[in-house]
Amino acid sequence: MKKIILSIIVITTAIAVSACGSKTAATSEPVVSTASEQIAESKAEVQQVEALPSAAAVPVYSNMSYYLSAKLEEYKAYSLIHPDYTLENIVTYVNIGLDNPFYSNTKVIQNPEDLLVLCNKYNSLPDNYVPNDLVEVTTANSAASGLKLRKEAAQAFDKLCDGAKKAGYTILGASGYRSYSTQKSLYNNYVASDGITNADTYSARAGFSEHQTGLAIDVKNATVAYDSFGTTPEYQWAKDNVQKYGFIIRYLPTTIGITGYKSEEWHFRYVGVDTAAAVYALGITYDEYCARYLMK
Ligand SMILES: [Zn+2]
Repeated sequence: MKKIILSIIVITTAIAVSACGSKTAATSEPVVSTASEQIAESKAEVQQVEALPSAAAVPVYSNMSYYLSAKLEEYKAYSLIHPDYTLENIVTYVNIGLDNPFYSNTKVIQNPEDLLVLCNKYNSLPDNYVPNDLVEVTTANSAASGLKLRKEAAQAFDKLCDGAKKAGYTILGASGYRSYSTQKSLYNNYVASDGITNADTYSARAGFSEHQTGLAIDVKNATVAYDSFGTTPEYQWAKDNVQKYGFIIRYLPTTIGITGYKSEEWHFRYVGVDTAAAVYALGITYDEYCARYLMK
């Protein structure tokens, strides 16, 4: 039993080093393929742990590379409520903040201009934050007029659209940067028509929207509405290709418990090629990625 847990720690540490290293590396292909192999092994090991009695996983938090000593009591408390969770998930979920309800114990993001910024239901952007490098998305790649993204994300989106075109698909931007006040009216309108509980599953409260970072874009194809993107051939291409252009698909069907949002196959978030490749290879949400590899 001890042997299995130790081998997980060795493997997850190796992944952490690769993933964090790839953040700044100029090229990442060899790193990513190595990480993928390690991840496959890691997943197999985690499955073995899930089959073990839960008590076996409790005492070794400090051996995990993404353990935060300040959160020890929270790990312990959370593991009592969720004795069936793996050690890895206890640490990850508490680091995210999931031991508290969404929109509680929230923090204001101190580095909103960071390309790797994590904006979710526990981390909000300052009310007055407006990225200073917003540019209009190329008209040919946009289904809406005046759609803006931060410069690096806009350039990457152009490349993504070109890549899709070469493969025979059309991907168009439908909504990009949204200000705090635009998000506020959008959310309030949804609450008025649909109630707060429903609205919270598909619309972010003002300050908590990735669209305010200027790094998120909702997309559509040429024929159906953006919220049907998941049913299109374009999505089938996108789900295994957007990471090559530095984007991740942020909200997937299985991740509502972590992100608080229903599936949004159309919502792409720019994080840069290296990080997107790592998140894609790991097959986890960006919230989990940050909780494991970017949180100090
Ligand atoms: Zn969106």
